[in-house]
Amino acid sequence: MSQPIKIISTDFDGTIFAEFENPPIAKTFVALISRLQAQGVRWVINTGRDMSGLMEALARSQISIQPNALVLVEREIYFHQDSRYVGHAEWNRDCTVAHEELFARIRVDLPRLTQWVEARYEATVYEDPYSPFCLIARRLRDAEAIHEYLDDYCRTVPGLHVVRNDVYARLAHSGYDKGKGLAEIARRWNVSREHILAAGDHLNDLPMLRQEYAQHLVTNANAIPAVRDIVRRQNGFVSALACGHGVANGLEFYLKKLSLQAKI
Ligand SMILES: [Mg+2]
Repeated sequence: MSQPIKIISTDFDGTIFAEFENPPIAKTFVALISRLQAQGVRWVINTGRDMSGLMEALARSQISIQPNALVLVEREIYFHQDSRYVGHAEWNRDCTVAHEELFARIRVDLPRLTQWVEARYEATVYEDPYSPFCLIARRLRDAEAIHEYLDDYCRTVPGLHVVRNDVYARLAHSGYDKGKGLAEIARRWNVSREHILAAGDHLNDLPMLRQEYAQHLVTNANAIPAVRDIVRRQNGFVSALACGHGVANGLEFYLKKLSLQAKI
C-alpha cells in the first residue's frame, strides 16, 4: 500500500532543530523520515534560514537523511538533484524580480522606519541580501510593538508584509511565504493537499499551517500559543513533546490514523 502521506513539510528551528540539545535533531524524527523516504515519501525543510545557514546547521546535526526540497528565507525553492540543491529557476527568478520592484518602491521610506524603531526600542535594523529592512529586537515585547507599527506601514504598500519569527523580522513580498512555497512544490510533484503534512512552531509558519495547503497539521509543545491555536482549530495534532520528538509524535499519529482509515 502506498503511503497516505506523500510530502512532509517541516520548519527547521524550534520544529525539528533544537540548537542546545544533543543531538539537535531527535533520533526518533530522523529514523521515521529515513523509513518514510525509503517508501517514496518526500521531506521538505521550509525555513527562514538561507542556504548556508541551513547547510551549516544540518552538517552540525550529523543526520543520515537529506531533505528532498527546500523552501529558504520563506520564499525560494530548491530541489535535491544528484547530491546538490538546484534552484527552481522560474519561481526564484520571479520571486527576486517581485522583491526588487517592491523594495525599490519602499526604499525612500526606510530611513523614517529605522529612526522610528531606534528612537523607541533596543533593536538593530540592518539590510541583508534578502531585505533592505531586517531587525533583531532585544526583547520579545519590543518585537511585538515594532511588528504592529510595521503592519500599519505595510497596509499603505500593496504587496508588502512583515515576516517575523520571535525577535527577528524583515519586510518582504506578501506573494511569497512558506504556504505558497509548499503549494508550488506540491504542484511540481503532482501531490494534492490530502497527502501533505506540515509542521511548524512560530509566526512565520502560520501561512503553511493551513488546510488549503496541508490537510494534516502538526505542532509541538514549544510552539507559540498562536500556532497551537491555529493547529487545534483545524483539528491538527498538538504534541505534548518538544521539537523533533513532537513532530515524530504527530507523524506517527497521522500514519496510524490514516492507515486505520484505509482498512475500514
Ligand atoms: Mg521555527
